[in-house]
Amino acid sequence: MPTTPHPTRGVTACDRCGAAIRWATEIGTGRRMPLNALPSPMGGYAAHTNGSGGLVVRELTRDRAEPEYLEWKAVAHFSSCAPPAGQQPRPPVPRARPARRRPAVQPPLFGQPQRRPR
Ligand SMILES: [Zn+2]
Repeated sequence: MPTTPHPTRGVTACDRCGAAIRWATEIGTGRRMPLNALPSPMGGYAAHTNGSGGLVVRELTRDRAEPEYLEWKAVAHFSSCAPPAGQQPRPPVPRARPARRRPAVQPPLFGQPQRRPR
């Protein structure tokens, strides 16, 4: 029998829009993904709390299209994340930092003679 999640435990606010979300780990890929905190019959995912208290989620598939046992139907927060009107969304966090470059001209190290301007 499907269940409903704890109303507040594990719920956090989305950085971008402030909505109540829960972070879950996707079964199979191990990716972390945000879910809307409240279950929805429109959800394309089934979430449940695993034995160690973490929330795990699987995408509902054709052969397992309904939540089972302790799962509840969840909506991926990506689909409803929207900052409040009039507020600019924050730019996404860059995945990799650009390589650090040495400055073309370096100041002399301590004890080295000052480079004379030509
Ligand atoms: Zn959001």
